[in-house]
Amino acid sequence: MFRTHSRLVGEDRRLALLVIFGVTAGAAILPFAFWRALQGQWVVASLEFALVSSFGIAIWYAWRFDRISLVARSVSFILTGAALGLSFAIDELILLWAAPILLVNLMLGGPKMGLGLNVVLIIGLLVLLDGEATRIEQATFAGSGLLVSLYGYIFALATDTQQATLESLATFDELTGAGNRRMMEHDLREAITVARKHGLPHALAVIDLDHFKRVNDSYGHEAGDRVLKALVEHVNQALRSKDRLYRMGGEEFVLLLPETDEAGLELALDRLQQHLRPRLRSPGGPVTVSMGGALLQSDDEGWSQWLARADQALYAAKEAGRDRVGIAPAPESAPAELPRRRAGERVA
Ligand code: GH3
Ligand code: MG
Ligand code: MG
Repeated sequence: MFRTHSRLVGEDRRLALLVIFGVTAGAAILPFAFWRALQGQWVVASLEFALVSSFGIAIWYAWRFDRISLVARSVSFILTGAALGLSFAIDELILLWAAPILLVNLMLGGPKMGLGLNVVLIIGLLVLLDGEATRIEQATFAGSGLLVSLYGYIFALATDTQQATLESLATFDELTGAGNRRMMEHDLREAITVARKHGLPHALAVIDLDHFKRVNDSYGHEAGDRVLKALVEHVNQALRSKDRLYRMGGEEFVLLLPETDEAGLELALDRLQQHLRPRLRSPGGPVTVSMGGALLQSDDEGWSQWLARADQALYAAKEAGRDRVGIAPAPESAPAELPRRRAGERVA
């Protein structure tokens, strides 16, 4: 339902690579296509025009339908196929284009697929052009092609690893591994779009540790950090797979519960609190949490208003004595019974 966090960084980078490739390759191939057309070599000219057009269509499709990885991979397939096809028309001249094609396959197809396509391309060209070149020329082409592929592979692998680190730093909280504020904002916006489109109820909750300052003051910051990590672990154990937890800052967390109505929200938060109560401890004994939940309102509520209402419910739960769940009333109704009860207690 949600785009993965990689959409925040990695996919945009790949789209940029696709555009750079499409524009430069188009500019490089077009003069040859026109020249071939002027020479009356219609087959080659048509192939080259079709290739340039396919780059344009690929960029448009990737941008329009957000299928960037798929399109980038498809382009490396098309390019490899076109190089093999053109070898029939322009013979060994295609070998002079091999180096950039081998690099683009690794750039757009990724290290594994790129390397696979390159091996196919090198062997394919050697087989198709057998007889056009001497053995030493063939061996030179094979050697240089494999080396370009190997260096490109190492480079693509390193880029992917750095990318993964960057994405993780940009989207996850380092201490607890929960989503960070940036990811939270992104996902809340996305959730609102999905909720409006499909008319599904969505809920969120703010979770805040009770008297957490005392834990730090009495047992040190590291003991506090361990409680934060334990909280995230325990919450994650209790969540459905589509629920998401984010660290909004300090000792405040946000829980996004897609496709959840009011009854579901109450049940989920009560259950969560019952799950946490026997598990969450500091060196000084049990640590409790307070939670404030709110359902997304149907009209034009933005994510920050949605969050603010959950925050108010949390504040009321704190005021009422902590270690309890508060649910925000819908804005138009009176804030009747807020906060209602401690988790597990029945409303009279
Ligand atoms: P309340 O029940 O009203 O929420 O009381 P509290 O003490 O939890 O709330 P307060 O907002 O006064 O204090 C929050 C504390 O959280 C202050 C700060 O020392 C601690 N804190 C914030 N970020 C971190 C962190 O990354 N690690 C640790 N160990 N403590 C943190
Ligand atoms: Mg607190
Ligand atoms: Mg707080």
